Amino acid sequence: MLTTKPRGVNDILPDEVWKWHYVENYLRDLAGRFGFQELRIPIFEHTELFQRGIGDTSDVVEKEMYTFTDRGDRSLTLRPEGTAGVARSFVENKLYSGTLPGKYYYVGPMFRYDRPQAGRYRQFNQFGIETIGGHEPAIDSEAVAFAYEIFHGLGLENVLVHLNSVGCPVCRKAYRAALQDHLMPALHDLCETCQTRFDRNPMRILDCKSKHCHELVQGAPSINQYLCEDCQNHFDQVKKILEAMGIPYAVDQNLVRGLDYYTRTAFEITAGKEGAQSAICGGGRYDNLIEEIGGPALPGIGFALGMERLLLTLEQQGSQLQKPDFCDVFVAGLGGNAEILTSQLCHSLRLSGLRVQRDYQGKGLKAQMKAADRVAAKIVLIIGDDEIARQAVICRQMANGEQTTISVNDAVSYVQQKLSAIKVEGDIK
Ligand code: AMP
Repeated sequence: MLTTKPRGVNDILPDEVWKWHYVENYLRDLAGRFGFQELRIPIFEHTELFQRGIGDTSDVVEKEMYTFTDRGDRSLTLRPEGTAGVARSFVENKLYSGTLPGKYYYVGPMFRYDRPQAGRYRQFNQFGIETIGGHEPAIDSEAVAFAYEIFHGLGLENVLVHLNSVGCPVCRKAYRAALQDHLMPALHDLCETCQTRFDRNPMRILDCKSKHCHELVQGAPSINQYLCEDCQNHFDQVKKILEAMGIPYAVDQNLVRGLDYYTRTAFEITAGKEGAQSAICGGGRYDNLIEEIGGPALPGIGFALGMERLLLTLEQQGSQLQKPDFCDVFVAGLGGNAEILTSQLCHSLRLSGLRVQRDYQGKGLKAQMKAADRVAAKIVLIIGDDEIARQAVICRQMANGEQTTISVNDAVSYVQQKLSAIKVEGDIK
């Protein structure tokens, strides 16, 4: 128990974490280019926020929340997604009194009590954006373009944008009735979950993962035929702007998304092999959410992508991310007399901005050179008894074995010069 993690959570080990840093830095940079600022929201919120915000009939709220009662008898929930928290923060901090639309991004862990499997965990990480306070189609197109560019820019292949409009409460009313009429004869053949969805939220039947339900909804009327004029115009303009920006998409009339708050634009992005089409990213417009949780009537749109799924896809597609250098200099002190000078030198080198590794166990030169090799040190500084007597160090360049003896006082500037020369050579090559 003590040394086993709970089901569905992961350790991200030092050997892997550089990939996370790489992708996170890339996402933060891209977010800046698209004009988004980070908003850090808490890991837990009042349970009602998710019930109200995400919707009582969604799978997430019905079955997947990590809800607990705290010592003050309050019902709290570990955030299963980021939108509700961002919406709450937007209202609570009156961000609507600033420039609109507000454009925010977040990155961090989410929690869902789901059946763990490859790419599905109970604690997972999402990067997401929200644009709140604008209804213009250009905002929708920008969100889709941003999401597309994340995967395209990382060099992934088979990046597909699945796009739909799920309409507004006005057009959905007529559509809901038409869908129920169509499904009524097959009601008892639907899976158990879909039978309960029939009255509460029949549109969710369209994206049921059960193969049988999937077959039963073939030929069902499409929301696209029921869009009111405003929703239709909005959808047309979103598509037109995407085309002008050169963002490829395919309209998927069965795309309704799992969470209840979506209105109008809904989209998902897949980048898998053909057949294995689980989404890496999903999002859409939520024009009633802010008001629903007690804020002003302001529309919003956002998306979230699963970091684990993104990294898995990069790996499946054989993408080579640039691994950062882990070590510039290795300081090899030989024998007990070298301990103080080794520590001093390491400290000075580190203060000068270099990445420095060393041995602590008094290993011999051969073992220390091996250790320097393992961390891919570019330079090794060797300090033996002779060097201590002369207040000198040997500087060895690992790439070509070149060695020079220098005075301890010059060591830091000499190493910096050597490293710059190595970098220039590398750049020229
Ligand atoms: P959603 O918030 O359900 O729209 O999910 C957005 C993205 O988060 C999905 O496309 C996945 O990439 C990721 N995701 C959702 N649930 C999980 C999970 N249980 N484990 C890992 N990633 C997930």
